[in-house]
Amino acid sequence: MPYTILVAEDQQHVRSLIEYKLRNSGFVVVAVEDGNAALQKAEEIIPDLVLLDVMMPLMTGFEVLGALKKNQKTKDIPILMLTAQSKEDEVLKGLELGADDYITKPFSPNELAARVKTVLLRRGKK
Ligand SMILES: [Mg+2]
Repeated sequence: MPYTILVAEDQQHVRSLIEYKLRNSGFVVVAVEDGNAALQKAEEIIPDLVLLDVMMPLMTGFEVLGALKKNQKTKDIPILMLTAQSKEDEVLKGLELGADDYITKPFSPNELAARVKTVLLRRGKK
Protein backbone atom coordinates (compact mmCIF):
# COMPACT_ATOMS: atom_id res chain seq x y z
CA MET A 1 0.00 0.00 0.00
CA PRO A 2 1.43 3.41 -0.86
CA TYR A 3 2.39 5.73 1.95
CA THR A 4 0.32 8.81 2.60
CA ILE A 5 2.12 12.11 3.00
CA LEU A 6 0.36 15.11 4.49
CA VAL A 7 1.81 18.30 3.03
CA ALA A 8 1.20 21.63 4.78
CA GLU A 9 2.47 24.56 2.72
CA ASP A 10 0.79 27.94 2.30
CA GLN A 11 2.43 28.97 -0.98
CA GLN A 12 0.35 27.50 -3.78
CA HIS A 13 3.16 27.07 -6.31
CA VAL A 14 5.40 25.35 -3.79
CA ARG A 15 2.54 23.12 -2.66
CA SER A 16 1.80 22.14 -6.26
CA LEU A 17 5.44 21.34 -6.93
CA ILE A 18 5.64 19.13 -3.84
CA GLU A 19 2.37 17.37 -4.66
CA TYR A 20 3.50 16.69 -8.22
CA LYS A 21 6.88 15.34 -7.20
CA LEU A 22 5.64 13.13 -4.37
CA ARG A 23 2.78 11.70 -6.45
CA ASN A 24 5.29 10.91 -9.18
CA SER A 25 7.39 9.17 -6.55
CA GLY A 26 4.50 6.84 -5.72
CA PHE A 27 3.07 8.53 -2.62
CA VAL A 28 -0.51 9.41 -1.86
CA VAL A 29 -0.50 13.13 -1.12
CA VAL A 30 -2.96 15.14 0.92
CA ALA A 31 -2.14 18.85 0.78
CA VAL A 32 -3.40 21.69 2.95
CA GLU A 33 -2.56 25.40 3.05
CA ASP A 34 -2.45 26.34 6.71
CA GLY A 35 -1.52 25.04 10.12
CA ASN A 36 -5.03 24.52 11.46
CA ALA A 37 -5.96 22.37 8.51
CA ALA A 38 -2.72 20.43 8.92
CA LEU A 39 -3.54 19.56 12.49
CA GLN A 40 -7.12 18.55 11.68
CA LYS A 41 -6.07 16.42 8.71
CA ALA A 42 -3.25 14.73 10.62
CA GLU A 43 -5.70 13.59 13.32
CA GLU A 44 -8.22 12.50 10.74
CA ILE A 45 -6.02 10.47 8.38
CA ILE A 46 -2.93 9.63 10.50
CA PRO A 47 -0.51 10.02 7.57
CA ASP A 48 2.79 8.11 7.33
CA LEU A 49 4.70 11.40 7.31
CA VAL A 50 3.92 15.12 7.62
CA LEU A 51 5.85 17.61 5.53
CA LEU A 52 5.45 20.85 7.42
CA ASP A 53 6.28 24.36 6.27
CA VAL A 54 7.45 26.61 9.13
CA MET A 55 5.93 29.91 8.02
CA MET A 56 2.20 29.47 7.60
CA PRO A 57 -0.91 31.47 8.52
CA LEU A 58 -3.14 30.65 11.54
CA MET A 59 -0.62 28.28 13.11
CA THR A 60 3.08 28.11 12.37
CA GLY A 61 4.74 24.82 11.54
CA PHE A 62 6.30 24.86 15.01
CA GLU A 63 2.90 25.17 16.68
CA VAL A 64 1.56 22.34 14.54
CA LEU A 65 4.62 20.22 15.36
CA GLY A 66 4.19 20.85 19.10
CA ALA A 67 0.49 19.96 18.96
CA LEU A 68 1.15 16.78 16.99
CA LYS A 69 3.76 15.68 19.52
CA LYS A 70 1.37 16.29 22.46
CA ASN A 71 -1.38 14.17 20.96
CA GLN A 72 -1.17 10.39 21.59
CA LYS A 73 -2.73 9.70 18.21
CA THR A 74 -0.22 11.74 16.20
CA LYS A 75 2.95 11.88 18.32
CA ASP A 76 4.77 9.12 16.44
CA ILE A 77 4.14 10.40 12.92
CA PRO A 78 7.48 11.31 11.30
CA ILE A 79 7.85 15.03 10.60
CA LEU A 80 9.93 16.72 7.91
CA MET A 81 10.15 20.50 8.26
CA LEU A 82 10.42 22.94 5.37
CA THR A 83 12.43 25.96 6.48
CA ALA A 84 13.52 29.20 4.87
CA GLN A 85 17.08 29.26 3.61
CA SER A 86 19.82 30.00 6.13
CA LYS A 87 17.47 30.20 9.10
CA GLU A 88 19.56 28.16 11.48
CA ASP A 89 17.33 29.04 14.44
CA GLU A 90 14.33 27.54 12.62
CA VAL A 91 16.24 24.35 11.92
CA LEU A 92 17.36 24.01 15.53
CA LYS A 93 13.94 24.78 16.94
CA GLY A 94 12.32 22.19 14.69
CA LEU A 95 14.79 19.52 15.69
CA GLU A 96 14.41 20.37 19.38
CA LEU A 97 10.65 20.04 19.07
CA GLY A 98 11.06 16.56 17.64
CA ALA A 99 11.16 16.94 13.86
CA ASP A 100 12.91 14.02 12.13
CA ASP A 101 14.63 16.12 9.50
CA TYR A 102 14.34 19.36 7.60
CA ILE A 103 14.82 20.68 4.12
CA THR A 104 15.60 24.29 3.27
CA LYS A 105 13.94 26.39 0.58
CA PRO A 106 14.55 26.62 -2.28
CA PHE A 107 14.82 22.85 -2.47
CA SER A 108 15.42 20.40 -5.28
CA PRO A 109 12.34 18.20 -5.83
CA ASN A 110 14.58 15.16 -6.15
CA GLU A 111 16.21 15.89 -2.82
CA LEU A 112 12.82 16.42 -1.21
CA ALA A 113 11.58 13.03 -2.40
CA ALA A 114 14.83 11.40 -1.28
CA ARG A 115 14.54 12.91 2.21
CA VAL A 116 10.95 11.79 2.54
CA LYS A 117 12.01 8.24 1.67
CA THR A 118 14.98 8.39 4.04
CA VAL A 119 12.85 9.52 6.97
CA LEU A 120 10.31 6.76 6.27
CA LEU A 121 13.10 4.18 6.11
CA ARG A 122 14.76 5.42 9.29
CA ARG A 123 11.46 5.33 11.13
CA GLY A 124 10.91 1.76 10.03
CA LYS A 125 8.15 2.57 7.61
CA LYS A 126 9.68 0.37 4.92
MG1 LIG B 1 5.13 29.35 4.17
